[in-house]
Amino acid sequence: MQDIPATDAFTLMNVTIPGCFLGRPEDLITTHLHIRDGKIADTGGIQIDMNRAMVLPCFTDMHTHLDKGHIWPRASNPDGTFLGALTAVGDDRSANWSATDVATRMEFALKCAYAHGTKAIRTHLDSIPPQDGISWPVFAEMREKWVGRIDLQAASLVGCDSFDNLAKDYAPTANIVAQHGGALGMVTYPVPDVKQRLTDFFTLAGDRDLEVDFHSDETMDPESETLRLIAETVLETGWDRPVTVGHCCSLSTQDEARAMNTLDLVAKAGLNIVSLPMCNLYLQDRHAGRTPRGRGITLVHEMKARGINVSFASDNTRDPFYAFGDLDMIEVMRQATRIGHLDHSDTDWPKAFTSNPSKAMSIDSSFLTPGAPADLVICSARDWTELYSRPQADRMVLRNGVKIDTTLPDYKDLDHLMETA
Ligand SMILES: [Zn+2]
Repeated sequence: MQDIPATDAFTLMNVTIPGCFLGRPEDLITTHLHIRDGKIADTGGIQIDMNRAMVLPCFTDMHTHLDKGHIWPRASNPDGTFLGALTAVGDDRSANWSATDVATRMEFALKCAYAHGTKAIRTHLDSIPPQDGISWPVFAEMREKWVGRIDLQAASLVGCDSFDNLAKDYAPTANIVAQHGGALGMVTYPVPDVKQRLTDFFTLAGDRDLEVDFHSDETMDPESETLRLIAETVLETGWDRPVTVGHCCSLSTQDEARAMNTLDLVAKAGLNIVSLPMCNLYLQDRHAGRTPRGRGITLVHEMKARGINVSFASDNTRDPFYAFGDLDMIEVMRQATRIGHLDHSDTDWPKAFTSNPSKAMSIDSSFLTPGAPADLVICSARDWTELYSRPQADRMVLRNGVKIDTTLPDYKDLDHLMETA
């Protein structure tokens, strides 16, 4: 691939760009891209022939778990199930998650994401006390340290059944979240009083003017319909701040008419949906000695057809919820495309990895338009089949028009944290 010189004004000649980023209906367009003073511009400078290399804007990874990442060597999942993951993480959290431990793994994960071409991340943070008091200050420090490289957000993570009295017992954590400019989060399970718990949750968030971010229906049990309850609660209360809901796997096993009716409510309520297909493949429909039948992916095409803002993200990396992963959004694109059949479909799916998640996170969602920062991922691949057939380990990443070092951190850097007692 042609190298990019460090210069203020240049033009990338013959680059291949998904039409959706240029406001056009075509799938891929071969064109020129002008860059001036670190921004996409109307006029460029030195011409560099890129031989049809694909150019994508840097990614937004809107659902991750930086606080859990990379604990696998000391806390593996005993059987690959959701319950196995919950138990293994809980044990590891109480034994090992000091501020130094969380910060070291978080930093490692951010280095990976940055080198792969990601510019914005939302992480969930396990926030059951006393972990909230440990992880949120670490997050705030990390957000400051990474300013200008990765735009970092966080959402609190607790189970809706973690407290006897959610309204009272989750309030101190909600205060910590508000103090650190985070989003209030919760895992919704179909417990008998989940509706009341949702109402209390929205009150806690509303009183503090917080955005909200849920893990919902991460199960193949069709009876789990908490996404529907969230949509109903939003509509009943007239809630008008951004709401994100992740997973929504059970829609894939529900009666078709019922699922479509729920999606109509989700569209009406204006919820943002994020699908985590790699983690779903790992955890869903897993039974020892039995081949998995279901993929766990939520109904992304039917959502998109209703105008719902759909995104894809990494979710867990090398922890008991997902044994693999490196916060590489090209991998997420490749896997989501294969698992969800995003190919042979609308040409604007690439937005589900870039501008759609940015919209859901209420951050700048202008990509590749004049005036936008020249934050680019450039691959030697010239079309989708070339892009998705190889890992693109030789990709080039530009930030503000300047090539960055894409060397990944060494796993050995974490060895000292993995010694178990
Ligand atoms: Zn998650």
